[in-house]
Amino acid sequence: MTIEQVAISESRGPLLDPSEGLRVYADDRAHLFHSWAAQGAVSPIPVAGAQGRHFWDYDGKRYLDFSSQFINTNIGHGHPKVVAAIKEQADRICMIASTFANDKRGEAARLIAGLAPGDLNRVLFTNGGAEANEHAVRMARVHTGRTKVMAAYRSYHGGTSTAIGLTGDPRRWDNDAAGNSGSGVVHFFGPYLYRSHFHATTEAEESARALAHLEQTIIFEGPRTIAAIILESIVGTAGVLIPPPGYLAGVRALCDKYGIVYIADEVMSGFGRAGAWFAVDHWSVTPDLITFAKGVNSGYVPLGGVIISDEIHETFRDRVYQGGLTYSGHPLACAAAVATISAMQEEGMIDNAARLGEEVIGPRLREIAAAHPSVGEVRGTGVFWAIELVRDPETREMLVPYAGVGAQNAPVNEVVAACKQAGLWPVYNFNRIHVVPPCNTTDDEALHGLAILDEALKIADSYV
Ligand code: PLP
Repeated sequence: MTIEQVAISESRGPLLDPSEGLRVYADDRAHLFHSWAAQGAVSPIPVAGAQGRHFWDYDGKRYLDFSSQFINTNIGHGHPKVVAAIKEQADRICMIASTFANDKRGEAARLIAGLAPGDLNRVLFTNGGAEANEHAVRMARVHTGRTKVMAAYRSYHGGTSTAIGLTGDPRRWDNDAAGNSGSGVVHFFGPYLYRSHFHATTEAEESARALAHLEQTIIFEGPRTIAAIILESIVGTAGVLIPPPGYLAGVRALCDKYGIVYIADEVMSGFGRAGAWFAVDHWSVTPDLITFAKGVNSGYVPLGGVIISDEIHETFRDRVYQGGLTYSGHPLACAAAVATISAMQEEGMIDNAARLGEEVIGPRLREIAAAHPSVGEVRGTGVFWAIELVRDPETREMLVPYAGVGAQNAPVNEVVAACKQAGLWPVYNFNRIHVVPPCNTTDDEALHGLAILDEALKIADSYV
């Protein structure tokens, strides 16, 4: 199928009134302040509807969603079982404070704890991922009586005060002009073989040297000052970096050796994204705290949380936990989580995500990498993939520079624009295109999106 045929066969959503789209756009531009954006440059597409792996605008143009809306709608759009569960819950009880026991809240916590490894048996619910990390860090500090927290360069942990300080991406510290949120945070380099900081040439070397570097950093910071190490089990926003074998187990061992709390940030990697309930399952590692959000209910109603080990829970048995949220364990969000987890189980979505990665997306992306000189590396698992673009395959010079501005970003912007034109909605982050469709994407949908991407990458090749 050529890209034109692809675009035509997939381009129509339901017929709607385009003038309504103009009104939606006008309200947005007059009154909305957008996240992570220069407000003058924002030009959002008014979205009229969404179903399955597609959404569409008021002109009826349909997009195949390879973004999962901030890598979040792991079950796609408008899943009927989850929509029905939210409606039923709304009819029964919309809000009851977390001081009360509530059926869906308890059931969601039981299901989530049941999926988590080891003795992580309790859940504190939050409204999203950043809040989950804020609370995990607070728990670790109280539990250990220490203050410093170690986090990786090339990470994203959320946009609130502590979470942005943990985030190892200085581009994002503008909103904290003096960098104050980072106080008490120590950053270190995690493994990233394609651009190894440790001059490693094999995964085994990268893993061993990254662990040696981490241990050195712990020793020079003073182990007795370090409350926690927080790590994305698979680094998401900063590059879909899969840890080499042995790395996470090594982090676990260092945490045990020095009495440090291991916080696994599974906000993006959890609930099927990596082809497993939690990405740590791939390496059979049990952290002390797991933070989650996004896929737990596909974001149909905001929900996040911290899954807590028995040992850390014990710290708060007789000691008040000085933290909480008005909306903690919101019944609508918890009802959506119960229905989402059940739908994922009943419909085999975790297996589908794993199979897609192994049999469809991974092999096709490797073919694409071989055909395009602009593709430096493809990496991923499940429905969690990145294509890293380079200007020079030999030197691995990035196609666009880190923190590039204006025309510097043109090569990637042009690839993304071509995808959108052809009806594919991808995610991109500086020199990478991320391929992150929902877990229940069909083989045909995945191949269709990758065909569009394949064609669009010719634009990137022209810059090599
Ligand atoms: N942690 C990770 C790994 C994330 O990817 C994100 C969001 O993308 C967050 C935390 C923050 O989550 P939220 O935007 O729900 O606060």
